[in-house]
Amino acid sequence: MVTPATRMQNIRYDIRGAVQQEAERLEKAGHPIIRLNIGNLAPYELYAPQEIVSDIAENLFHAQGYSHSKGLFQARKAVMQEAQRKGIEGVTHEHIFMGNGVSELISLVTQAIVNPDDEVLIPSPDYPLWSAAVTLAGGKPVYYQCDPVNQWAPNVKDIASKVTAKTRAILVINPNNPTGAVYSKALLTAIADIAETHQLLLFSDEIYDKVLFDETEHVSIAAVNPRVLCFTFNGLSKAYRAAGFRSGWLIISGAIDQAGDIFNALETLSSMRLCANVPAQLAVQTALGGSQSIEALCAPEGRLYEQRNFAVEHLNAIPGVSVNSPQGAMYLFVHLDPELYPIENDQDFAMQLLQQEKVLVVPGSGFNLASNQYFRIVFLPKIDDLHEAISRIARFLKERLAA
Ligand code: PLP
Repeated sequence: MVTPATRMQNIRYDIRGAVQQEAERLEKAGHPIIRLNIGNLAPYELYAPQEIVSDIAENLFHAQGYSHSKGLFQARKAVMQEAQRKGIEGVTHEHIFMGNGVSELISLVTQAIVNPDDEVLIPSPDYPLWSAAVTLAGGKPVYYQCDPVNQWAPNVKDIASKVTAKTRAILVINPNNPTGAVYSKALLTAIADIAETHQLLLFSDEIYDKVLFDETEHVSIAAVNPRVLCFTFNGLSKAYRAAGFRSGWLIISGAIDQAGDIFNALETLSSMRLCANVPAQLAVQTALGGSQSIEALCAPEGRLYEQRNFAVEHLNAIPGVSVNSPQGAMYLFVHLDPELYPIENDQDFAMQLLQQEKVLVVPGSGFNLASNQYFRIVFLPKIDDLHEAISRIARFLKERLAA
């Protein structure tokens, strides 16, 4: 029997876990499923802007070879200009790495930086790829609390109290997946101050920085404190609805003089995977240069705005169900009152909901939260589908209540 490497033992990525596999089985057996589990826009007819698709198609012939392992100059230059627009100081194209999505860059950065037993402060709930990547690198995720009664803002005191001699970095996911929280400048300044005081790195995952509602402004943590070495991650998957093209970027900024050989380590790892997908790199300048992003869909009367409002209102109307109206991203992190619905195992809860009502959600514990009382859904389906899905969730909960 061939067994997986021991380093795989504690690696979890439940967004595509057992419940998802059961959904695939049910679909193959002829049961249509309403999928509320993954932030993937195209299956919901939320397609990439035509200009991006045309650019890729037109340039395909010229995209046959490898690019520089850090990425095409024109793409990195466009990202540099984006960094300038975000107020991140001192960034040149040399400080930018292109990747096959943010996911790959998270892996490269954690492999390049995290030593065995290093601690990385990660929000709870988190986007679980981060915990998995830190663990795979031999590091230890240490979770800081985010406060559900304060729009899921990170608890700064909790972050400060969890810094130890082993802490290497603080991770911020802003706007947040799964909670949709968008962090204020004051909050980001307080987090960056902790990093500065203890000479920690900052990792900032900003893949949803343009998926914003209610005139909320996005601030990059790299822009609030240039004295900290900061790694900012972003890409085409969400704001430009092009997740399948696999394109992301990493901006290294701030205390570059403290970066030592980190650039060399990242270049080595980038060279080992040769380069990022070249056709998609050719669309980055078009994406960042024009008014291509998802903003219009999030403005009042835009499709995502309407869907968010509909889902929030209808979920909150179910007895014992509560959810914040998120300021960013595309998820609702839904709470179930433990008095009405005491849930012992939220994986089982999600599995039963799937089997009974054919609605696929992600259990909250999959986001490294020590509670069984949450599940996450996307509000990407059109209103009619959301209506159907939420009605089924309501029926499922009503039956539990009666039982
Ligand atoms: N970071 C966060 C917070 C995400 O939610 C996701 C995808 O859902 C990613 C990164 C992965 O993005 P990419 O498609 O660029 O790999």
